Amino acid sequence: MDSAIEVQSCSRCRSDSIVHQPYSGQHLCGKHLSSSIRKRTSKELRIQLELPKDATRLDGTPFRILVAISGGKDSAVLLSMMSEIIGRRRDVELIAVCVDEGINGYRAPSMEFARELAKSLGVRFETMAYEEMGYERMDKVVQMIPSIGQRHTEANGLMPCSYCGVFRRQSLNTMAERLDADVMALGHNLDDMAQSVLMNLQKGEVERSVRLAPHTQSPIEGIVPRIVPLRWVPEQEIHAFAIYSGLPIHHGDCPHARGAMRQQSRALVANLESQTPGARHGLLHSLDQIRDLHRHANPDSKQQVNNCTICGEITSRDICQSCTMRKWLSEDT
Ligand code: SF4
Ligand SMILES: [Zn+2]
Ligand SMILES: [Zn+2]
Repeated sequence: MDSAIEVQSCSRCRSDSIVHQPYSGQHLCGKHLSSSIRKRTSKELRIQLELPKDATRLDGTPFRILVAISGGKDSAVLLSMMSEIIGRRRDVELIAVCVDEGINGYRAPSMEFARELAKSLGVRFETMAYEEMGYERMDKVVQMIPSIGQRHTEANGLMPCSYCGVFRRQSLNTMAERLDADVMALGHNLDDMAQSVLMNLQKGEVERSVRLAPHTQSPIEGIVPRIVPLRWVPEQEIHAFAIYSGLPIHHGDCPHARGAMRQQSRALVANLESQTPGARHGLLHSLDQIRDLHRHANPDSKQQVNNCTICGEITSRDICQSCTMRKWLSEDT
């Protein structure tokens, strides 16, 4: 093989390829990458969403799908794909929602990209800030983390993303409730999914793996079911497609992301994939099989859940993690 950088042509036409799929051996041009992503997304939507021919609700309003967007590439591709695939249906309504974590230099610009995208697609856009939820802005939370860790052993070693993940989930739940949503779509790609599978399994958390989205077959009581239509599409392909189709996306990274466990898994999954193309697909297939086995082994099992004694949200403990963290933040420092 010569080592010169040479543009490969698409495996399906004569155009230059913009992406290589080592796991399939194919090279794809922008047009064929787009149709391939659209096909995978449509198929997953059909499997995960199971919409009847007329999904209008009993009260005559359309079936309501929240699409969580961040201004980044994954959720931008998700919203544009969903709008293309089901956006014209009169019995379905898409609402784009964006959580404002309160991160200077990062959230404000990315929120504008999110707003612009929703506007260009004619999709309603709603936001929710951490302060409105009774949390602090993430920039402030980050400053408080060391002292919270000193006061509470349970909080020891928690990273910014541990707080932010709980707050975001809760903010999305609240938005879903307020907007009376039937389903929520998240932009997780194949790499995200493979990382989550690996992280949960390495911690021995099978139950947690089983609860990963999509929730089509195993709804979790008390929360709006999540779907993840991009779950089979690798991050690199989503990125290439977002650039190719000129979607408005923000390229910055969150300044608080460093040190998160996900960063380790990201490197690990990337490494696995480069040594064994198809490893990410394998991890996700394994999850699906574990999920099936789990369902068959526990046919009537309802998730054992309590309601938080403070806010009433579903939790496995007496007080949910969101309320616990909110309390830590409210204590004097
Ligand atoms: S990287 Fe972590 S702190 Fe930053 S927005 Fe994401 S979850 Fe929040
Ligand atoms: Zn092509
Ligand atoms: Zn609570």
